[in-house]
Amino acid sequence: MKDHKNLAFDSLLIHGGDIEDTYGSAVVPIYQTSTFAFKDVNHGARLFAGEEDGFIYTRIGNPTISALENCVAGLENGFGGIATSSGMGAVNSVYLAFLHSGDHIVSTDAVYGPARVVIENYYSKLGIEYSYVDTSNIQNIIDAIRPNTKMLYIETPANPTIALTDLKKCADIAKKNNLVFVVDNTFCSPYLQKPLDFGADIVLHSVTKFINGHADIVGGIIVAKTQEHYKTVRGAMVTMGFNMDPHQAYLVLRGLKTLSIRMDRAQENAIKVADFLENHPKIEWIKYPGLKSFAQYELAKEQMDGPGAMISFGVKGGLEAGKILMNNVKLALLAVSLGGVETLIQHPASMTHSKMAKEAKLKAGITDELVRYSVGIEDVNDIINDLKQALEKI
Ligand SMILES: *Cc1c(COP(=O)(O)O)cnc(C)c1O
Repeated sequence: MKDHKNLAFDSLLIHGGDIEDTYGSAVVPIYQTSTFAFKDVNHGARLFAGEEDGFIYTRIGNPTISALENCVAGLENGFGGIATSSGMGAVNSVYLAFLHSGDHIVSTDAVYGPARVVIENYYSKLGIEYSYVDTSNIQNIIDAIRPNTKMLYIETPANPTIALTDLKKCADIAKKNNLVFVVDNTFCSPYLQKPLDFGADIVLHSVTKFINGHADIVGGIIVAKTQEHYKTVRGAMVTMGFNMDPHQAYLVLRGLKTLSIRMDRAQENAIKVADFLENHPKIEWIKYPGLKSFAQYELAKEQMDGPGAMISFGVKGGLEAGKILMNNVKLALLAVSLGGVETLIQHPASMTHSKMAKEAKLKAGITDELVRYSVGIEDVNDIINDLKQALEKI
């Protein structure tokens, strides 16, 4: 592992995962191997005892995977990274690492659907209590904390309501109450938001989205601020078998190199698309952190380095009108996921958040008419013309 601590973000994207191998490879190779031979019995014993760095078995660690982990840990200003098979593998590694029977979690009501469903349907059976609140209002978090609260788990901007949660204030509350403060940073990527810098303990991503950016793999990563938390989460990931695969890691490393230029273009497009939608007579409402009309415009400027590429909006005429729009776009793919080079459109109430109880959905602001739009890096005129022709069909 080369030392790149003094490099800027854009250089870390290219070199943060560099390794030194026998052949001087320019790109981190795919170490497609399940196990690694020890030099002798004592060497094996030293590796297992953690007295020497090296690789044992790919579920525990692998050079391609660790290159990705080192790269993202550097981008997030954390101690260490832990790559996982999926974003949900990252979420579950963190839950299992810290939550014990009898503990309580406070989380964002409009958090990524399955991150909530897994707590309500599975962890609850193991004796874990939960409160889902609108964390964009800090008082709701304070009111929800109980003597047994162990974790504050937030997503900002939340998916798909685009509601922001104040990272600095959450960090203060977490510190005062001795909570593990976890942030799902998938919507921003470290290019637009660095939660550890605001006092979070753990940041996690579905790398399926912006970090990989090419819609060709599913994966996750966790970055811990301290060595202690890093060890706790890695232990959970390794024993649960939530590890990433070397081939997956190779593709993510490849996608990650262009994160800033992809994000810059997607965001530039999103600003123009948001402006178009806000002024379109058939749009009822729109939420995008880059619009002056966005309720938390100031907070977005404080904690995000840009408004991102995710837009939520409602069409006049509600769900039926929204369906006409979604059925008539030709460039945008009608598909879940986000953060790829291609533009996607989806309907959270019937798709990503369909497993959530209807009442909980409404309370969290995931209304029936909400359309979620992930802006890609195509020519912005094509994106806007596509929306224009589909809106004309309503
Ligand atoms: C997609 C997503 C996840 C889950 O990630 P997978 O890679 O699909 O398992 C978690 N959080 C957010 C915000 C997401 O968008």
